[in-house]
Amino acid sequence: MKSANNIDNKALFKISYGLYVVTTNDGKKDNGLIVNTPIQVTSTPQKVAVTVNKQNYSHDVIKETKIMNVNCLTIETPFSIFEKFGFASGKDVDKFADCTPNRSENNLAVLKKYINAYISLKVTDYIDLGTHGMFICDVTEAQTVSDIESITYTYYQNNVKPKPQAEKKKGFVCKICGYVYEGDELPDDFVCPLCKHGAADFEPIS
Ligand code: FE
Repeated sequence: MKSANNIDNKALFKISYGLYVVTTNDGKKDNGLIVNTPIQVTSTPQKVAVTVNKQNYSHDVIKETKIMNVNCLTIETPFSIFEKFGFASGKDVDKFADCTPNRSENNLAVLKKYINAYISLKVTDYIDLGTHGMFICDVTEAQTVSDIESITYTYYQNNVKPKPQAEKKKGFVCKICGYVYEGDELPDDFVCPLCKHGAADFEPIS
C-alpha cells in the first residue's frame, strides 16, 4: 500500500481489539453485525462509543432507531458466527432466521451462546467520520452471562479464522476475513466484498 515513509501500516495492527456482535432491529427483523470498535469512553456517566462502516446496513438502522446491543464474544465462538454476522448483509439475509435469540430490556436480540456479557446502548451523539459513523451512547443495561474469556482480534486471527488453502493462488488475501483477490495488482480503492475492509488490510499471497 502507498503510504508516507514514516508510517508503517503494520504498526496500527499493534492496537488490540475485541470482537462483538452488535444487534439491532429495523422494525421488521433482528439484525447483527460483527465489529471490533466498541470502547468505553467515560465512566461517570458510563458512555460507550461504537463505530460502524456506513456500508453496513446496521449503520442506517442504528442512526434511525438510536439503540443497539453489544454482545461480547468469547474465545469459544466458532468461525460460523463470524461468517454469519460478518460476511453477509442484513439487507439481504435474515441472520436470525434459524435461531430465536434472548431479549434484553430494550427488546433487542441477545445471543444465546458464545457471549460473556451484553450491553444495551442508547445513542446520544453521532460523529460523521466519512466512511464510518461513530455512535456515542449511554449504557441502559449491562449483564454478565458467563466467565469465559473475551475473544480478542489476535485470538481470532490465530485460532478461529481458517488457515489459507494449501493450493496457492496468485493475488492478495484479506487479513481480516481471508477473501482472496486474484490478480497482479490490487487497486488502492479496493474494498473487500465480504468484510468491507479496504486495500490496506490486504497482503500479497506469498
Ligand atoms: Fe475481508
